[in-house]
Amino acid sequence: MENCIFCKIANGEIPAATLYEDEEFRVILDLGPASKGHALILPKTHAANIYELPDELAAKAMVLAKKMAGKITDALQCDGFNIVQNNGEMAGQTVFHFHMHLIPRYKGDGVGITWTPGTLTDEMREEILAKVKG
Ligand code: AMP
Ligand code: ZN
Repeated sequence: MENCIFCKIANGEIPAATLYEDEEFRVILDLGPASKGHALILPKTHAANIYELPDELAAKAMVLAKKMAGKITDALQCDGFNIVQNNGEMAGQTVFHFHMHLIPRYKGDGVGITWTPGTLTDEMREEILAKVKG
């Protein structure tokens, strides 16, 4: 897709610090890292978000995330690992080319991937089950 920065990075038109590359994906270091080793998995074909991503690439992206998580953990000796994937502006997506965040976590790093737990009421549970399961 024209003017998509992650299309250009994934396909090598714009240089990026590449940790891994194959025919379908490039894994790069995030330029604004949440922690040491924060990386992004980019498919080389354009899909704006998870809704547009073909099933086959979705499956491969998860396998690649597992492989990279192991590799990065071994190399950087992090203490934990978050895999984050944002869809839509309201969910924090700022680059509209599907990507998965690989975020190594370190004791006391203060990275804030958290929320305040709410309460699942009986009414809410029944509404959601009826709507989603149909
Ligand atoms: P998101 O908010 O989920 O869309 O994530 C976009 C991520 O892309 C952010 O973590 C940015 O720091 C990162 N980012 C934006 N532009 C670049 C770039 N040119 N190279 C590497 N990372 C980038
Ligand atoms: Zn793109």
